[in-house]
Amino acid sequence: MRVLIVEDEPRLAENIARTLRETAGYAVDVAADGQEGLFLAESNAYDAILLDLMLPKLDGMQVLKRIRESGQHTPVLVLTARDDKESVVALLNAGADDYLTKPFDLGELLARAKALIRRGKGQPSPVLNIGDLQLNTVDRTVQRAGRPITLTAMEYRVLEYLAHRPRAVVSKTELLEHLYDYNWEKFSNVIEVYISGLRRKLDAGSQQPLIRTLRGQGYVLQG
Ligand code: CA
Repeated sequence: MRVLIVEDEPRLAENIARTLRETAGYAVDVAADGQEGLFLAESNAYDAILLDLMLPKLDGMQVLKRIRESGQHTPVLVLTARDDKESVVALLNAGADDYLTKPFDLGELLARAKALIRRGKGQPSPVLNIGDLQLNTVDRTVQRAGRPITLTAMEYRVLEYLAHRPRAVVSKTELLEHLYDYNWEKFSNVIEVYISGLRRKLDAGSQQPLIRTLRGQGYVLQG
């Protein structure tokens, strides 16, 4: 998953980014003002956007409105300060999906971000079941037919993304865009490596291969 943080307080932005990277294994981009935030939101594929309201150049409300006017459905979690003039009603009416008042607990922020990402992909439950595969997005564990499977951090991230889009064809570019930050083009050769590692671990002792490759199109996680 890939998340955009638009926040002008560098320390807070860095703390949020670190939590998302280290605790959830997400790719994270950070914008320090509204203009840059809007530019990144319009040019990249994010699974969620965390948006501060009081921002230099373009405030969070304007960023939110412009994102929604452009037809983007990416879930947006607004970070509000107690003295922000925008009301919660105005935020929700402008297309925000959730909000959190500063100061907030990073654990709560992470849980809300995860819930928004799941709902954004039509997967409200934190435990995803695809056929005999079970992926728990809270403790980041994987089982197949009850057998625990140990994955590397990157293998888990690839599988988590595919599991949020079961039975859909997911292209290599889509995976790269959602698993890495703006540097993603550098990593274009590694996806095959992770997929083959996943296949080896997931399909051991099973007749039914879990990940199918559609030549020239991408990968399908089938149940
Ligand atoms: Ca601010």
